[in-house]
Amino acid sequence: MPSIRKPTTRDRSQPALSRAKGPTTRIGYGFDSHEFRPGIPLKIGGVTLTHDRGLGGHSDGDVLLHAITDALLGAIAAPDIGALFPPSDAKWKGADSAVFLREALKRVQDAGYGVANMDASLILVSPKIGPRAVAIRTRVAELLGVPADCVGLKAKTPEGLNLDDTAVAHVVVLLEKRSATKKARKKK
Ligand code: MG
Repeated sequence: MPSIRKPTTRDRSQPALSRAKGPTTRIGYGFDSHEFRPGIPLKIGGVTLTHDRGLGGHSDGDVLLHAITDALLGAIAAPDIGALFPPSDAKWKGADSAVFLREALKRVQDAGYGVANMDASLILVSPKIGPRAVAIRTRVAELLGVPADCVGLKAKTPEGLNLDDTAVAHVVVLLEKRSATKKARKKK
């Protein structure tokens, strides 16, 4: 009589969909745009820049930190910045956008990953980013816990795009599997 194979809870020939079996690298992409408005400070990449206008909208309007946050969240397929920190919630009015980035980074670490590097393009007419690029890269690197040479930043003018009153940020991040990251953090 042929033996009948007992059903198991999981067929061993199929890999488990566990975090431990996840990819060794993950890529994330983030985009954001904010409109310039008079009478508010301009914050980009966690740095306050001298300018006659700031970026309005959700929180402190830091277009670069928002795009980085979404890139981090996207890389681990987590809910996006708008879902985690709804603009309709008065709690986030004028909030320091570093709070959003830190939450996204925590989720990345909890998923067993660390940031390898990131690259950003900022698109805006003014102010000129060049003189403050090192300060912005240094601050972003500090927030991400990576060396400054792992943070790329290019500033472009929106030629032909009719975006003179808007700042736009595009960001890509690369994550690496660091299964020890979570354990190391738990031991602290
Ligand atoms: Mg935003």
